[in-house]
Amino acid sequence: RIVYVNGEYIPEAEAKVSIFDRGFLMADGVYEVTSVLGGKLIDFAGHAKRLERSLNELDMPAPCTMDELLEIHRQLVEKNDIDEGLVYLQVTRGSDGDRDFVFPDPETTKPTLVLFTQNKPGLADSPAAKKGAKILSVPDIRWHRRDIKTVQLLYPSMAKMMAKKAGCDDAWLVEDGFVTEGSSNNAYIVKGNKIITRELSTDILHGITRAAVLKLAAEAQMEVEERNFTIEEAQQADEAFTTSASAFVMPVVEIDGTQLGDGTPGKTALRLREIYLDEMRKAAV
Ligand code: PMP
Repeated sequence: RIVYVNGEYIPEAEAKVSIFDRGFLMADGVYEVTSVLGGKLIDFAGHAKRLERSLNELDMPAPCTMDELLEIHRQLVEKNDIDEGLVYLQVTRGSDGDRDFVFPDPETTKPTLVLFTQNKPGLADSPAAKKGAKILSVPDIRWHRRDIKTVQLLYPSMAKMMAKKAGCDDAWLVEDGFVTEGSSNNAYIVKGNKIITRELSTDILHGITRAAVLKLAAEAQMEVEERNFTIEEAQQADEAFTTSASAFVMPVVEIDGTQLGDGTPGKTALRLREIYLDEMRKAAV
């Protein structure tokens, strides 16, 4: 694999980052994951915009312009011959060669920019989406700036492991009795013609896929309600699903051992998945 590190396209075995990098020592970094379908980037503009916001919120300088970032994405897709897959991008605050809680001077310490691709043939035509996901609910004990897409992913990893150990596919996080989001996706329930998902705030990541799916749902004459819901309400809903840039729209078929409907992916979730994939392929860059 050819990867990108601070201005260079190099084989992954030659890629190096300092052990003092604050991304490594302090999870002082942000990331984006953009999917590739038919060799083209899905909603790059949305990811670039959120990256700028994450950087701003953390007073981290941008490593380059968003146009340059697009070019790096395209180069990597081409060099690695990716038809379906992902581009992972990470920006960290870099290092001034020592460990200190105080941020290094941005005039002299440049951010570290790393990108790599993941080849995922069959990403769109996913067997997992045809089966639907089984969900385990776990407490949401993350920090309170979940709107910033930091690389601080230990608890989401632990939540996913708890789900796997319980024979489930993924975890939904619950705070003060309400679902915040999934371990790495936004969470939804469907009641009749209505799609319900938590409102945007610092409690959840502002999903790029969430924004696109809610817009497409409204255009398809579905009703959209942004409000909190509980696990109990989700268990009694007609359907549930999650959205993320890497799994698109993923139907949910079971929550904490309670089967939803007949235990197969719901028609609304499957329809939204199809609409999303169709529209995003058309707009891909
Ligand atoms: N919430 C969390 C916690 C996530 O990690 C992700 C995926 N990065 C999402 C939601 C979905 O965001 P997006 O649609 O931009 O991938």
